[in-house]
Amino acid sequence: MKVALLSDVHANLVALEAVLAAAGTVDAIWVMGDTVGYGPDPSDVLALLRERDAVMVAGNHDLAAATGEGLDMFNGHAAAAVKRHRSWLSAEERDALAALPLTREVDRFTLCHGSLRDPIWEYVVAPSQAHATLRIASTPHCCNGHTHVPAVFRDAGTRTTIVPIEVGRPIALDASCLVNPGSVGQPRDGDPDASYALLDTAATTVTFARARYDVAKTQERIRARGLPAILADRLSSGF
Ligand code: ZN
Repeated sequence: MKVALLSDVHANLVALEAVLAAAGTVDAIWVMGDTVGYGPDPSDVLALLRERDAVMVAGNHDLAAATGEGLDMFNGHAAAAVKRHRSWLSAEERDALAALPLTREVDRFTLCHGSLRDPIWEYVVAPSQAHATLRIASTPHCCNGHTHVPAVFRDAGTRTTIVPIEVGRPIALDASCLVNPGSVGQPRDGDPDASYALLDTAATTVTFARARYDVAKTQERIRARGLPAILADRLSSGF
């Protein structure tokens, strides 16, 4: 099975469309949360992922937009965008976001936004954090998001290491691994191109990819919808 791993689309429809086009034919789409928040098109992004039968989990922005939960934890610009999204989304869309599970097991993978210790808020950046998540998972592998930085952690039991990522080079998941595909809609690793990964569950490999998209078009939409200007500006730098 070929799976497109996506996370942190953040209402960036132009980036999502570019990623889906670049990914080509896939058997499944798994989304590790933060489908909404920050960007200009939360309803259209949600509709497109639902139309493609994406397997989704909840992120902190999804819950805040759906129910207001956790809004006090957001910085000013993020909170401003979430409040706007709350007003733009229909009651049905808010209910759909509120109903997203925090974790979900698919194939040999557990999906979550942050971590399995704290599905909504933990930022996994260190091997010890990845180890803690993989240790409590009941599947061999996990996929997460939240940091907006692509990462693979390999846990061989006694030692957890960070696996170097090279776009286009398949990485064998030959031990228990935590895979973060980076962010489609708001990358923060210094590369403005949309980040995602392709998982081959038969070969048990993951290959990271970037999709160039029309950043200026999303920036224009963000400004036109009256969202904070910094949310448009930061997309140029990828930070
Ligand atoms: Zn996010």
